[in-house]
Amino acid sequence: MITSETSFIALIGNPVSHSLSPIMQNAALRYLGLDLIYIAIPCRDEDLESVLDSLKNINCKGLNITIPHKEKVFDLCSEISPIANKLKAINTLKLNTEKEWSATNTDVDGFIYPLKALSLKNKQSIVLGSGGAARSVIQGLINLNFSTISVVSRNKSSLEKLIKNFEDQIEIQGLLNNDNKAQNLIKEANLIVNTTPVGMKTATNKENMLPYGETFWRSLNSKTIVYDLIYNPAPTPLLKFSAKKGCLIIDGLQMLIAQGIKSLSFWTDGLEVPFHVMNDALKEYLEKK
Ligand code: NAP
Repeated sequence: MITSETSFIALIGNPVSHSLSPIMQNAALRYLGLDLIYIAIPCRDEDLESVLDSLKNINCKGLNITIPHKEKVFDLCSEISPIANKLKAINTLKLNTEKEWSATNTDVDGFIYPLKALSLKNKQSIVLGSGGAARSVIQGLINLNFSTISVVSRNKSSLEKLIKNFEDQIEIQGLLNNDNKAQNLIKEANLIVNTTPVGMKTATNKENMLPYGETFWRSLNSKTIVYDLIYNPAPTPLLKFSAKKGCLIIDGLQMLIAQGIKSLSFWTDGLEVPFHVMNDALKEYLEKK
């Protein structure tokens, strides 16, 4: 029951209306029996500092940070975990004992979750896209001991920066999406991860769009695992196409839940909630929609 004692955790971003985090986090908070609720707060760029300052002074226990604030929030935090520092992106905050924001990033743990049970050591991977999520994905692939990473992007400048960031840790190369070398890499890849938003459910997206177009995928074969970070729709056009080719497919829902479980643990100093609690809540919600 919400009472005058109830505290809250909030998602700060713009937009936030599409987010599934309130559904799964409120189910988890109820499961744990905590007097806490989770809400989404839309926040414009120019208001970020004043909103975060105000939240320090009221009964807010923690935050999730999403697009477009994951990098901008750095300057407003007094403690930043090594992983958030390395990835230059923050997705979770809590107030420390001095009432200042302490920050971390739980996306790497989230990304790895569905891959943990598979044996992927020394395998070859391809990452599509060179934005924020690609950084967490690459760090995850390094943690899982992949032998090579090829990043395919349409954006030369962010691609070069990304490769520079990781080139001393793993064999990594960058390719533009129209580079013919991509075909051989796709034929040989054990895992391909889509971090572009192509295939996401939006008002303007065309049906059945694949990242970089259908010809890009002509050498895909059944030995490749295809992982799409997008969770709405699930499966995406890319995952439907890959399943038809006989590939094992993974959508973004498990990543969403696994990063949410890690964030909840950060806010509550280590409390854990079973995966199925968030998963069941999301399934029930998505079935009704
Ligand atoms: P981002 O920083 O904007 O990066 C997106 C990347 O995709 C950029 O390299 C961008 O290239 C490229 N891109 C955009 N539109 C494209 C198109 N039409 N064709 C080819 N490439 C295109 O976004 P992000 O934060 O990395 O998020 C990417 C996706 O991952 C989103 O769909 C997001 O919902 C999803 N995600 C899911 C989870 C989860 O928990 N499941 C977590 C994080 C992110 P340009 O720079 O040229 O635009």
